[in-house]
Amino acid sequence: MSEADCIFCKIARGELDAEVVHDENDVLAFEDINSKAPVHILVIPRQHVANLEAIGALPDTVVKRLFEVASAVAEKLGVTEGGYAVRINNGRDAGQEVFHLHLHLMGGKKLSMP
Ligand code: AMP
Ligand code: ZN
Repeated sequence: MSEADCIFCKIARGELDAEVVHDENDVLAFEDINSKAPVHILVIPRQHVANLEAIGALPDTVVKRLFEVASAVAEKLGVTEGGYAVRINNGRDAGQEVFHLHLHLMGGKKLSMP
């Protein structure tokens, strides 16, 4: 999957619409199109990295920022007190569909593993 074809790169470049809830230099957060919880947000680095095996390509500050943005968006959407899950589906057995690294931020209901 090249950056030209990647749907999350297209969203990051503004070529594909998304319900953006947080927008900054290196990190973007938007609603999951097929939400699995009352709050279901995807947090992505603007830079294309496919998965955790490629995370070394991201500056450390951006890796940290992904989690800070997840926390900030949780606060903004009112799920901090109730709690929320942050999840990465990495690879086939985890059901990864989009090979642009992203955090799922889910809350607003009781969540269970897996
Ligand atoms: P996964 O790769 O398993 O972490 O799942 C990718 C997630 O991206 C799924 O939850 C999809 O519903 C979501 N998704 C796919 N296309 C879009 C899109 N254009 N806008 C927002 N979310 C999307
Ligand atoms: Zn991408």
